[in-house]
Amino acid sequence: MIDKTKMRERPAGARAKDFAQVNLGYSREEAIAEAKRCIQCINPLCVQGCPVEINIPAFIKAIASDNPLKAARILKEKNNLPAICGRVCPQEEQCELKCILKKKGDPVAIGNLERFAADFEKDKAGETSSLSPFSDCATTPSTLAAEGGDEGQVKDTLLKRSPSPWPSPIMGEENKPVVTQSLKRDTVGFKVAVAGSGPAGLTCAGDLAKMGYDVTVFESLHKPGGVLRYGIPGFRLPSDVLDYELKNLEKLGVKIVLNTLVGRTISIDALFNEGFKAVFIGTGAGLPAFLNIPGENLNHIYSANEFLVRVNLMCANEFPVSDTPIYVGKNVCVIGGGNTAMDAARTALRLGAHEVSLIYRRSDAELPARREEVNHAKEEGIKFQLLTNPVRFIGDEKGFVQQIECLKMELGEPDSSGRRRPKPVEGSNFIIPCDMAILAIGLSPNPVLPSLTKGLETDEEGHLKIDDKFMTALPGVFAGGDIVGGDTVISAMGMGKKSARYIDEYLSIPALYPSRLHHS
Ligand code: FAD
Repeated sequence: MIDKTKMRERPAGARAKDFAQVNLGYSREEAIAEAKRCIQCINPLCVQGCPVEINIPAFIKAIASDNPLKAARILKEKNNLPAICGRVCPQEEQCELKCILKKKGDPVAIGNLERFAADFEKDKAGETSSLSPFSDCATTPSTLAAEGGDEGQVKDTLLKRSPSPWPSPIMGEENKPVVTQSLKRDTVGFKVAVAGSGPAGLTCAGDLAKMGYDVTVFESLHKPGGVLRYGIPGFRLPSDVLDYELKNLEKLGVKIVLNTLVGRTISIDALFNEGFKAVFIGTGAGLPAFLNIPGENLNHIYSANEFLVRVNLMCANEFPVSDTPIYVGKNVCVIGGGNTAMDAARTALRLGAHEVSLIYRRSDAELPARREEVNHAKEEGIKFQLLTNPVRFIGDEKGFVQQIECLKMELGEPDSSGRRRPKPVEGSNFIIPCDMAILAIGLSPNPVLPSLTKGLETDEEGHLKIDDKFMTALPGVFAGGDIVGGDTVISAMGMGKKSARYIDEYLSIPALYPSRLHHS
C-alpha cells in the first residue's frame, strides 16, 4: 500500500514563537497523490462516519483528476464550512476511522484533502485576509446594544440597518452558491432567526438560505464565528479562513447582526412579533467549570475561555494597541487535557511563558484532545504532568498565585465514560511552581437564553431539551450544537443541518405538527 502523504508543517522551534499556521497544507501534486490512494469503495463507509454526509469518494475523485474546484463544489453541497472542518474536525474518529485502508495501514487523509480543496477555491476566488473586516485585531467597536439594552430601540435599529459588513463578493462560475430545494416553494422568503453564530448556527443558517429562506443570525459578540473565532487560535484556524466561509454564507443571503444577546437584547417572542416564523438556538457552551479547591480565586488564575477570548477576540497580545491586557507568567500551568487545554497551553507559550506545564489527572492514553494537537504541543515544548491532580493553589501575601499543590494519581476501574477512573495516591503530595494558571476542565451550556425565556426546558446539566426533530418545548423554536449536548464542530454542524431540514418541514407542512401552535 502506498504511504499516506504527510502534510508539511513548520518546525516546532519557529512556530512556537508566533501565531502563524502550524500545518502548511498540501500542494496540488501532494493532494493528487493522496487522492489517488482512495480506492473508491462501492459502499463507502467513510460517508457513514461523516455527520454532514459529504460525498467523500466523489470529492476525492475530483481531486485525483486534478479538478479541485469541482471537489470544493461537491464538499459545499453538504458542508458550508469545509476549510474549517478540514482543519479542526476529528476525522481520525469519524470518516477516516471508517476508511477501508485503515485495516492495513493509514486511512486516506480525508481531512487534509478537504482542507486542500476548500483552500484552493478560496485562493482561486482571490480572497485575501486584507479584505476581511474581522481578521485584524482591533479594539471592540461600540456596541449597538449591550446586555440590558432597550429592546424597542434595538429592534428598530438592528432590523433596519445594513447587516453585512463584508465587501461585495467576488463570484466566479465555480463559486456560485449551491442551491437546494425547500419542501414547499411558497415558504421562499419566510424569515427565520438564528441565535448564535457558531458552527451550529452558521450551518443551519446556510442550509435554510439555500432553501430560499430569509435568514438572520443574531450574535451576542462583536465578531461572528463562536468558538471558531474566540476559542480556536489562529495557528490552527486563521481568522481569514473563517471570514471567507462567512462571506460564502453572505453570498447565500444570510444576514448577521452582531452585539445582540437573544433573550435579553431581543426576546424570542419579540422575534416572532417581528415576523420571524421559526427560531434556531445555537448558543453553545460558554460557561467554564472550576475545580472548587482552595486558592482558586487567587490573582493570575484564568478560565481557558477568558484567556482565549482575551487573546483571540480582544487581541490582548497587542496591548496597549488593543484595549485588553493579559498577564502571562513565567511558569504557566494549564489544568485539563482536551483541545481547549492544548490551545491555552500553546497560546501561553507563544505569548512568552518560559515553561508551560499541562496538568492532567489521567494518563496520556486518555487525553481527550486530538492526537495531532497533543503531538504538536509536545513538539513545541509543553511539559505534560500526567496522572496529577491539583488540590490547592498557594498564593503570596498580595494574593497572587505562586504554586500548585498536587497529588499523584493512579488509574482504577473504568467509569461510566469507559475511561479508567483516576484515584489519588495517598501521601503523594508535591508542589509545582506556578505564577499563572489556566483552568480548562470543561464548559457548560450558556444559561442566559434558557433562563430568560419562559417555556424553554433544560436538563440537569443545563442543556436545552429537544425532541427527535430538534424542536424545543417552545413551538417553532429549534436548537442544536453544544447548547443541546454536542462537543465538536462537526457534531454542531450536523445538528444545525438536521434542524434546518426540520425547520423547513415545520414551515412547509404544518399538518405534521398538529399539536404545535404555528406562528403564521
Ligand atoms: P459555539 O461555537 O460556542 O457558538 C455559540 C455562539 O453563540 C457564540 O458566538 C456565542 O457568543 C453566541 N451566543 C451565546 N449566547 C447567545 C445569545 N443569547 N444570543 C446570541 N448569541 C449568543 N471541536 C472540534 O471539533 N475540533 C477542535 O479542534 C476543537 N477545538 C476547540 C478548542 C476550544 C478552545 C474550544 C472551546 C472548543 C473546541 N472544540 C473543538 C469544540 C467546538 O468548538 C464546539 O463544539 C463548537 O464550536 C460548538 O458549536 P456551537 O455552534 O454549538 O457553539
